[in-house]
Amino acid sequence: MREFEVISRFFDRPSENSSWIRKGIGDDGAVLTPSPGFDSVVVTDTSVSGVHFTDEQAPDSVGYRSLAVNLSDIAAMGAEPKWVTLNLTLEQPESAWLEEFANGFFRLADASNLTLVGGDTTKGPLCITATVGGEVQSGQGLYRSGAQVGDLIVVSGLLGGAAAALASGRTSAEDALGHVFQYPVPRLDLGKALCGIANSAIDISDGLLPDLQHVLRESGGLGALIEADKIPLFDEACSAFGSERAIELALTGGDDYELCFTVAPSNLKTVLNLERACGVRLTSIGVVRESTGIEISGFKADASPLTGYEHTW
Ligand code: ADP
Ligand code: MG
Repeated sequence: MREFEVISRFFDRPSENSSWIRKGIGDDGAVLTPSPGFDSVVVTDTSVSGVHFTDEQAPDSVGYRSLAVNLSDIAAMGAEPKWVTLNLTLEQPESAWLEEFANGFFRLADASNLTLVGGDTTKGPLCITATVGGEVQSGQGLYRSGAQVGDLIVVSGLLGGAAAALASGRTSAEDALGHVFQYPVPRLDLGKALCGIANSAIDISDGLLPDLQHVLRESGGLGALIEADKIPLFDEACSAFGSERAIELALTGGDDYELCFTVAPSNLKTVLNLERACGVRLTSIGVVRESTGIEISGFKADASPLTGYEHTW
């Protein structure tokens, strides 16, 4: 298959809602009209075969997930996604694989009102980079740097599911744990709703502890107290591993793509009212403190170091 056939057969689709797209796929660059009064938010993430997904993983999930991880970053910024570019490096383009990949990718793009406006297609080891652009009302974006002493630390959904799936080898999408690994739900509605309510936000991609640590560091070197028994866990992870190990996976395991944010205690009621509107469980698990370091009450950290996922060379 030739490069142009890959683009035209699988990725060059007509799009709706495109009054703001002056030029989409087909020229040297996309030309977009920004909405007045909004800031642009740009995020990008790469998925590499053998590192972020496996040969056995359904191409539908690879397509879905390569976009979902980007939308999770957009959600953490409180933005509304608008456009995406897709850089595909393919070893050997196969129609069946590309069709399934595109199905997974576009299902999430369509559900998120997102238009593919360009990309690049090259030959090489299988690797996917998506770049997503979004908008947030000027000055209203959520940052890591806004946490305040006394803020409550709130997380969305359940934590540790993807790590439990990987640790138990239950990565099939038929399994509840495998499903959250293969099809994480970016919390876009929640992220937007938190603008003006939360003081800081991050998405949990490397693990609750390392990601919370980023927030605390960016917020001027703060600390936190986490109550281990408040961390929302998957029943399947608790029954497979016992609750201690399930908590450890939630603290240190990556790939949750839930939001972790901090709010003033006076805003907690407002936040909990978002549970129904956004269709996701919200749990307050701790508090931001002045003294640095993260203390975890009710959890015996054993010999295993409590760190999250980081690429090393
Ligand atoms: P150039 O050689 O000028 O970089 P290309 O031939 O790479 O242009 O791309 C032609 C058009 O197709 C561009 O608009 C580009 O953004 C788009 N495109 C290339 N690959 C993809 C892809 N995988 N998905 C979506 N659009 C793509
Ligand atoms: Mg090109």
